Amino acid sequence: MTEITNYQLYINGEFCDASDGGRFDSVNPSTGEVWATAPAATEEDVDRAVNAAHHAIFEGEWSKLTPTQRGHLLHKLADRVAEVAHNLGSIETTDSGKLAAETRGQTAYVSDYYRFYAGMADKIQGEVLPIDKPDMHVFTKREPIGVVAAIVPWNAEMFLTATKVGPALAAGCAVVIKASEIAPAPILEFAKVVDEVGFPPGVINLITGFGEPCGRILTSHPKVSKVAFTGGADTARHVVANTANNFAPVSLELGGKSPLLVFDDADLEGAVNGAIAGNFGASGQSCVAGSRVIVQSGLYDQFIEMVTERAQQIRIGDPLADDTQMGPLATQVQLDRCIRVVAESAEQGATIHTGGKRPEGRDDLEAGWYFEPTVIGCPDQTITSTRVELFGPVMSVLKFDTEEEAIALANDTEFGLGAGIFTSNVARAHRVSDAIHSGIVWVNTYRAISPIAPFGGFGQSGYGREAGVDAIRDFTRTKTVWINTSSEPMANPFVIR
Ligand code: NAD
Repeated sequence: MTEITNYQLYINGEFCDASDGGRFDSVNPSTGEVWATAPAATEEDVDRAVNAAHHAIFEGEWSKLTPTQRGHLLHKLADRVAEVAHNLGSIETTDSGKLAAETRGQTAYVSDYYRFYAGMADKIQGEVLPIDKPDMHVFTKREPIGVVAAIVPWNAEMFLTATKVGPALAAGCAVVIKASEIAPAPILEFAKVVDEVGFPPGVINLITGFGEPCGRILTSHPKVSKVAFTGGADTARHVVANTANNFAPVSLELGGKSPLLVFDDADLEGAVNGAIAGNFGASGQSCVAGSRVIVQSGLYDQFIEMVTERAQQIRIGDPLADDTQMGPLATQVQLDRCIRVVAESAEQGATIHTGGKRPEGRDDLEAGWYFEPTVIGCPDQTITSTRVELFGPVMSVLKFDTEEEAIALANDTEFGLGAGIFTSNVARAHRVSDAIHSGIVWVNTYRAISPIAPFGGFGQSGYGREAGVDAIRDFTRTKTVWINTSSEPMANPFVIR
């Protein structure tokens, strides 16, 4: 029998249970068994965490540190995350089913995000304004915006935590991070790392609980000044409504149905690799999955043949094993949805070239939420699999003849997160990337990310950008200071001279 790990919340620099002792189970998607439990934070816990963060920013030890000292602590965090990346990655894999090779690699890279923002901590500058009044010295300061509520989903927790915590702390804010109820363990394991680094109490608070009530109470809390949210569009609508209470600005990193265009002049091998990475990496559970693959007619048949063969060769299995290439989906709900949508798409006229079902003849995969890598040929974009975000290993392939047609197909979506273009024609690469409506475009590559490069979308993919230099501005507020430099006292406003 699996030994169960019972995690604790991390509030104001202390590990604790929920105030009413409430807990919930976390299931390992590759076995279907409960392996850990996490506290269900109550209103009292959320309130304590927000107050601790508020105290840290405005009165506590954190508020007395220089920006350079804040940067040193972020560097320490980066070092420690890099040291324990293997363990943090393994916990994330056990909790979410995501491949260990990905979670460990991504967590190691996450340390670069902390380092990037550590370096920025003492480079956040105000301006002296060339003001249009005599005897006035006017300047702006960029102050920490206040308490940041960071809400993360289950599919890349260490990464999506870093993209929020890095800039927030560099700006002098303090954070309350709420993990997803589907995979709560990585965040609570991360709490141990935060504790070792020695941040002043209240700077980073880590809590777990359900969207209702925990997420709602956090995002509507009167002392929260900024909400950084990553998750689904329906949840985002609740979050935006919650902030009607505190008027906290929100950034929304939501889902997508990203197009990946393959032109006849593309390097076919590279394009196939891009489509495989974009659809089967992380079992397709990626917001930037390139799940609408739009291929020019001259290459279409060959492309379908190659991706089908490659999909059939993918080694499915225990996500912790070194030779596994694709793990399970994170939840039974995800699995059922993939099965249902693929079947519905076939009824609408799509051709299933491979997959569309649970793996057969594998006793070791029966208990987990496994789904075969799937390739579907779609006659047009009325097919359900081309319209909805599936968050599973399902590649929908469409055919086009002209560049105009490809752009029209790519832009026929309510989302606007990522896009891929595979072509050997430089002029076309620029032309098409200009024409595509998305926050990120990758040319002859796919799913590349960096702390230096802004990340985000528009439309149903949300708004705001994470990563990059500009992201830090979202965690600051501008104060304008007017200083009268005249040797005379301020004039009486009711005496006209
Ligand atoms: P989700 O929307 O179900 O949950 C996200 C988080 O919101 C969870 O922590 C959840 O507890 C919380 N939540 C739920 N109800 C809430 C409420 N009323 N108030 C406040 N918080 C609430 O998303 P998920 O299923 O965990 O993650 C998958 C989604 O995330 C997909 O749509 C995916 O595309 C998206 N995603 C986007 C990005 C990106 O950077 N654009 C990255 C990863 C995932």
